[in-house]
Amino acid sequence: MPDVFSKKKRSWIMGRVKSENTRPEMRVRRRLHALGFRFRLHRADLPGKPDLTLPKYKTVIFVHGCFWHGHPGCKHADLPASNREYWVKKIGRNVARDAKNRALLEERGWRVLVLWECRIRTAEGLEGELGPLVASGLTPPALS
Ligand SMILES: [Zn+2]
Repeated sequence: MPDVFSKKKRSWIMGRVKSENTRPEMRVRRRLHALGFRFRLHRADLPGKPDLTLPKYKTVIFVHGCFWHGHPGCKHADLPASNREYWVKKIGRNVARDAKNRALLEERGWRVLVLWECRIRTAEGLEGELGPLVASGLTPPALS
């Protein structure tokens, strides 16, 4: 079966759906660690097995690949023209699952932060996305 995706598109798609320890995720980990945050990875006892959990700040972080998680309005989330119905359903299920997990986490008092792959590709982008976390009173000891 020929690949319905362009090479560039394919690399975004391989980003992740359920896979762990992806490159974008590693960048987030390294940066947060450097900022002094301590966290746990892929806690199976929490809905959606968040990529990072910061227990001290009652915050979980998901690093989402744009394609698989249906980043709204993002060009990397465009679905292929062929087999469209299949993709609409598949991505729709992922989006619904993400929303459900988010609701469950928030019910339990967790603050949920979603980092989209396209926004954290550069150091500036990553800094911008993490800014609210650092600014909202979640200042780790190393910075205070
Ligand atoms: Zn995106």
